Amino acid sequence: MAGAILVVEDEPAIQELVSFSCSSSGYKVRRADSVRTAREAIRQELPDLVILDWMLPDRPGIELLRDLRRDERTRGLPIILLTARSAEGDRVAGLDAGADDYVVKPFSPRELVSRVRAVFRRRAPQHSGEALGYGPLNIDPARHEVLVDGRPVKMGLAEFKLLKFMVGHPERVFSRGQLLDNVWGDHVFIEERTVDVHVLRLRKALAAAGAQGLVQTVRGLGYRLSARAEQ
Ligand code: CA
Repeated sequence: MAGAILVVEDEPAIQELVSFSCSSSGYKVRRADSVRTAREAIRQELPDLVILDWMLPDRPGIELLRDLRRDERTRGLPIILLTARSAEGDRVAGLDAGADDYVVKPFSPRELVSRVRAVFRRRAPQHSGEALGYGPLNIDPARHEVLVDGRPVKMGLAEFKLLKFMVGHPERVFSRGQLLDNVWGDHVFIEERTVDVHVLRLRKALAAAGAQGLVQTVRGLGYRLSARAEQ
């Protein structure tokens, strides 16, 4: 399951081209055609990446970009700016405002999708739609499969998503709250204890496949995926 992309573009033909390119590469796509509708869409459900046109009918896209970077909830949201402006000054302004990448129109759909993949790889590898690996683990998101030393392991959907996120960010400690936001979505209200339940199930599934000690508890902080010995 690859990430969810919000496409913010007012020109119908380009909105369609971008949306089609992304959805046929396996991404889930939502659309907006103005800064106002984009804000509303983000308020309802945080996407995993935004493709944002600079020239929109109500406000400039770069204004939305700046606002998203100021807001705690959307500060880390990967954003690709889309625009007809090719002047170097504008490119710099876009990157200065916090865009992760910048695609100049006209662009080829293949190029756009490869930029999307690159930004996901860098910022949120669990959403790239590509295979991820760490230690003895390999995850094939397209086939929804976890392999330990090449052998498939069965687990529930929540455990799969949790592991996929952690394999994308190995050696980093995440609090229960951070795991809830990243794995379950920030508008889903679940108790933090639920995370513990799924971690337990995940450990059981991995242990049954001969991979113990990978999902580690870091006392007082949360959890971490590490192939190094627990401290
Ligand atoms: Ca436009």
